[in-house]
Amino acid sequence: MKQFDYIIVGGGFAGFFLAHQLQKNKKSFIIFNGKQISGSHISAGVCNPVILKRFSTFWKSKEQMDYLETIFSEIESYTGENYIVKEPVARIFHDESEKKQWLKNSNKVDLESFLDNDFITLKSVDNPLESGIVKNSCRIDVESFFKDLFQYFETKDVLINESFNHNLIDNEQSTYKDLRFKNIVFCEGIHTKDNPFFNTIPIIPNKGHCLEVKINKDIDPFIIKKKHFLFSLSDDRFYYGGTYDRFDDTENINPEFVEELETGLKAFYKEKYFISKVKTAFRATVDDRRPILGTHPEFENLHIFNGLGARGVLNGTYFSKVMFDYLENNLELDSEIDVKRFY
Ligand SMILES: Cc1cc2nc3c(=O)[nH]c(=O)nc-3n(C[C@H](O)[C@H](O)[C@H](O)COP(=O)(O)OP(=O)(O)OC[C@H]3O[C@@H](n4cnc5c(N)ncnc54)[C@H](O)[C@@H]3O)c2cc1C
Repeated sequence: MKQFDYIIVGGGFAGFFLAHQLQKNKKSFIIFNGKQISGSHISAGVCNPVILKRFSTFWKSKEQMDYLETIFSEIESYTGENYIVKEPVARIFHDESEKKQWLKNSNKVDLESFLDNDFITLKSVDNPLESGIVKNSCRIDVESFFKDLFQYFETKDVLINESFNHNLIDNEQSTYKDLRFKNIVFCEGIHTKDNPFFNTIPIIPNKGHCLEVKINKDIDPFIIKKKHFLFSLSDDRFYYGGTYDRFDDTENINPEFVEELETGLKAFYKEKYFISKVKTAFRATVDDRRPILGTHPEFENLHIFNGLGARGVLNGTYFSKVMFDYLENNLELDSEIDVKRFY
């Protein structure tokens, strides 16, 4: 019988960043990833320390931004790629009062390293009131990240492309089918609802739609943000998205949100474009906007890492280390993120 320190269930940001922490610390693991829809795989990958409605920042944003370079250079040491794309967010201003608010906030201690008070005019889109740059913001190349990491874990023989069946866990023997484990960490995003050990955790699916659009012209090299994000993927392919919808939990494309995206894009991009793909998936969100880390109240070797919300990259990278330190170094979890808050 094969033995592992960890079984990870889920191959999104939560599962893969945690796998990285285990690999770095020489713990043995195996990842199960099924065909369930994943928010990570279609996400924009934007890493942005500023809330772009109010020009404020959020809990742990600085710590999260500081850790980003570290974790991606560690990952680069075995995949050969650094997935950070250093194109910052350029926020198109809607009116003069927003510019005033931005300038005022740029003097605040927690925002001065992020809000650039020199505004710019983008050439390729409509921004008559200029745009503000979020210094140090960036994105990750989501397509390459998942392509390479799936390949890497497959080559290392630590990835099983099948759905994990919770009913086959034998908790007394600590086995799952023909595998013996010390711990299982469930990183299932919204599919936690199908997990009999954690299905009472109040995860709210927030559905997002995004477009892949083809544009035959150059666009300024920024993550351009008005209502949604627009940025270049490769060649003539661009990402535009995503929408937010807390009500629809079906996996169907909803034309209403495709229209919202088209209207949003046309509001600042006046040239021709062609929609080549429409995608949808869910963010696993929590009312208190904190991720969920910790252990099952009864089974001490079953754990959860979830609730990354709209910030899968920043929350996933930073809290994967917090999760590792909790599991292996006996560091206590902050009560704000501990799954215990739901028991
Ligand atoms: C349109 C859109 C745009 C977004 N843009 C951004 C952005 O710009 N920046 C950002 O940081 N975040 C963004 N997000 C949010 C980000 O995608 C989520 O925070 C992230 O997906 C959460 O990752 P996760 O690993 O917890 O869940 P998921 O990505 O949903 O991954 C869960 C994985 O578990 C697998 N799984 C589930 N159940 C089982 C089972 N029983 N057996 C085996 N495998 C299972 C699924 O197949 C899936 O691969 C965006 C999301 C959407 C929808």
